[in-house]
Amino acid sequence: MGRGNSVSEVKKRNIAGCCVIVIYMDKFADLHVHTVASDGALTPTQAVESAAEAGLAAIGISDHDTVGGIDEAIEAGKRLGVEIVPAIEISTMHGDKTEVHVLGYFFDHRAPALLETLEFLRNARWERGRQMVEKLNKAGVPVSFDRIAELAACGVIGRPHVARAICETGAAFSMDSAFGKYLNEGGVGFVPRYKVTPFEAIRLIRSAGGVACCAHPVKLKNMNLLNEMIEEGMQAIEVYHPDHTSAISRFYRRFAQKRGLIITGGSDAHCFPNDTHPCIGGISVIYDAVTELKLAAEAAVK
Ligand SMILES: [Zn+2]
Ligand SMILES: [Zn+2]
Repeated sequence: MGRGNSVSEVKKRNIAGCCVIVIYMDKFADLHVHTVASDGALTPTQAVESAAEAGLAAIGISDHDTVGGIDEAIEAGKRLGVEIVPAIEISTMHGDKTEVHVLGYFFDHRAPALLETLEFLRNARWERGRQMVEKLNKAGVPVSFDRIAELAACGVIGRPHVARAICETGAAFSMDSAFGKYLNEGGVGFVPRYKVTPFEAIRLIRSAGGVACCAHPVKLKNMNLLNEMIEEGMQAIEVYHPDHTSAISRFYRRFAQKRGLIITGGSDAHCFPNDTHPCIGGISVIYDAVTELKLAAEAAVK
């Protein structure tokens, strides 16, 4: 949703004999923002400052698998007049190949059960990566954990990242051969994974009183999966995202309307210098989305 038509109404009024032009602006929200708490470049405070500069009414601080940036953002938001939507982007796997990012909004970000699970998930993924590196090194493949973490862009470390690192060392010539030689079950670098499914993420968000939302659905290319996620309790979908063309956004907007989902959107900003991705406010939605998410979360808790 563009922000070009943000002036919804312009009225002239006579106040104390003076002609004053009053401009009623629509309020906007960017519901997908990353900070240094995960893999963004800005501190939560800087992210809120950037949102204030962009004229946003609200932002969702939606770091990967952590709520570590939310409290600082709330404090900055109070000072700068920007509403902070407590959010998260949980990385999950459907089957062996499909990575699904599940956004959560307006949950209790201090709920002990939620914090415990998030910490467990973060540790489990990194630990598995380290174990794979150890096994591969023992087998004479000189991969480094730092390189794998870099390839994973600090998100979920998965076997494809390890396979790429193996290829870079010359120990395999293609992703397929890296899997075949080292990473498939029975291979010297294989470590079984603790899997979080999109359905578990939805349940986790809902159990903390929040609304679950499918992030950038274009990456899934799987309508059956989306329908299953709705059956599991997902109530929103990210229609507006930098990876969505306007035709794709239209497609998911129609899908959302048909299935009664709340329509969200955001920049997915990480804000690194020279980033070709939009920064905060580069993509935003009308503030109504915030109200709808809030009401849905409140209704779920009742
Ligand atoms: Zn994502
Ligand atoms: Zn993201």
